[in-house]
Amino acid sequence: MISIYDTEGIEKLRARNAVQPHRLKLFRTALFKNAQGRDKALASLPEAARDEFSRTIDFHSLELVERHDSEIDGASKLIFQTSDHHLIESVILRPKTGRTSLCISSQVGCACYCSFCATGKMGFTRNLTSAEILDQVLQASQIVKSEGRSIRNVVFMGMGEPLLNLEHLFESLEFLRAAPFFNYAGSRLMVSTVGIPHAMEHFSSVFPEVQLALSLHSARQDVREKLMPQARTYTLELLRESLLTASLNGKVMIEYLMLSGVNDGEADFRALEHYLRDIPVHINIIPFNEYAGCSLRGTPKAEMKVFSDRLKTAGFQTTLRYSLGADIAAACGQLVQHKK
Ligand code: SAH
Repeated sequence: MISIYDTEGIEKLRARNAVQPHRLKLFRTALFKNAQGRDKALASLPEAARDEFSRTIDFHSLELVERHDSEIDGASKLIFQTSDHHLIESVILRPKTGRTSLCISSQVGCACYCSFCATGKMGFTRNLTSAEILDQVLQASQIVKSEGRSIRNVVFMGMGEPLLNLEHLFESLEFLRAAPFFNYAGSRLMVSTVGIPHAMEHFSSVFPEVQLALSLHSARQDVREKLMPQARTYTLELLRESLLTASLNGKVMIEYLMLSGVNDGEADFRALEHYLRDIPVHINIIPFNEYAGCSLRGTPKAEMKVFSDRLKTAGFQTTLRYSLGADIAAACGQLVQHKK
């Protein structure tokens, strides 16, 4: 069997079956861009080639084992199983604005151990392959296609730290962007990171048009270290350099989770304002999603609004994130491996 993402293997298969290049292109367009499913995609090939394509190609590297649809908003959590029996999650977000997004995982578990994140509690198992990253997009695209929708944005904000799986992240971004494959404009793709300076710079040079988001959460070194162990190695000072470089490609999104009594005070505001001075950013204020076993509490909504309004007054483009999927534990930081 060869993977649907094994371009060399598929090229050999094409030549062996004397399929014209434009028919292969139609097959890929049907499968990836139009999310029409395996059988319809095969039907776009000459009849004589369908059988061997069908038998030889491994279309999916993940098995969808559970689906939970939110009863309060338009979120669906998809639980996939890998061939070595690990579970990972993706979330389809259908906000009222009508723009469907997909949040995908890049690793099984995570090695960053951020104190507020549920995924961090499960430890790190392994990197996802690019085929596993891409299959989340392919399967979710087929689901939303059946609803008459399409996925407009893909964000790497599920389980894992994408910049610690750089090789497979880069491979999957190539396929997400490539015209015969998923054909996403870079501006529709976003990679969120805890902040790994050399990887951020590498990423920005290879994919200048893909959006970058930095999970900052505090502009005070001591506070950030307590929240995010990675901050000890990758200090705010180092991160600022990478932010300046990355922002040459366009605004970087700054994610700022608001935790009561931890990063929402006057000193926190002033540190943030000072830290981000002169950097083109879009600040996204995120409400904390509570989960069992975590003692941290979110900042009350009214206080979040004041914090966000003050940032706006200080001249920063700022938005308050609306969290979807709370009832199905699909919101940020709630993606945890479930033991079956
Ligand atoms: N490792 C990457 C991407 C995964 S997390 C990163 O850290 O950016 C995606 C976003 O959700 C991050 O900004 C993360 O800090 C945030 N997050 C994690 N746990 C959360 C929680 N319990 N409530 C709200 N946001 C959370």
